[in-house]
Amino acid sequence: MLLKTNAVVLKQRKFGESDAIVTLFAKKVGKIQAVAKGSKRPRGKYSVGTQPFCYGEFVLFKGRDLYQISQVDLKHSFYKLRENVIKLTYASYILELTESIITEGQTNNRLFHTLIKCLSIISNMDKEYDTIIKAYELKLLMYAGYKPEIDICVHCANLNTGKFKFSSREGGLLCKDCFGIDPYALQISNVTINVMKYLMDTDLTQISRLKIKPNILKELNKIVKQYIHTHVDKDKFKSLELLESL
Ligand SMILES: [Zn+2]
Repeated sequence: MLLKTNAVVLKQRKFGESDAIVTLFAKKVGKIQAVAKGSKRPRGKYSVGTQPFCYGEFVLFKGRDLYQISQVDLKHSFYKLRENVIKLTYASYILELTESIITEGQTNNRLFHTLIKCLSIISNMDKEYDTIIKAYELKLLMYAGYKPEIDICVHCANLNTGKFKFSSREGGLLCKDCFGIDPYALQISNVTINVMKYLMDTDLTQISRLKIKPNILKELNKIVKQYIHTHVDKDKFKSLELLESL
């Protein structure tokens, strides 16, 4: 069975002497593994188009266990992501996080388009990636079904106490009366709540022109990190560790 679909390469690993297994986020079938025959040979047919970040139209043949790539029509390699190590590491984190959240065989068009847009925006930036990364993290969580509740108290539905905390475990805001149910709940200011809403609801292109203030960003970083850690089944992100060591 042949399948033609747009897809982004999330990951590539060597398979045997000269082949590779690539993890694709495909528009028509979600996350899949596919063999790229001969892609590890210097002039292999698929050595171009099966590297991480590559976005193109793939023709896939469904074998017994795995898909096999039979053709790639490259639309964008996002080569500018490789211009500097910080940019590349942020972009690698985007792929790593996406790969760990999406599920095999499940389509997610909104997320697919958001990922491509995000890679395209980052590839044209040269500094201050934090705001766009936070926006992508929140949109990814939202589109993958992990949207945090930030309109009302997630426990008692109270919407007007003036002061909230953020509980990753409970999945959103806790009002003053409910602080006690999660001892790990984090401080969250009303400004940060509004910034979170903005990042979730606004288009990435518009967000890319903004910069979150350092103190808000610091609070938001802590919250998003804890939230991802609680809801994503992955302990460590190699790219994040690298970023923290740079
Ligand atoms: Zn409450």
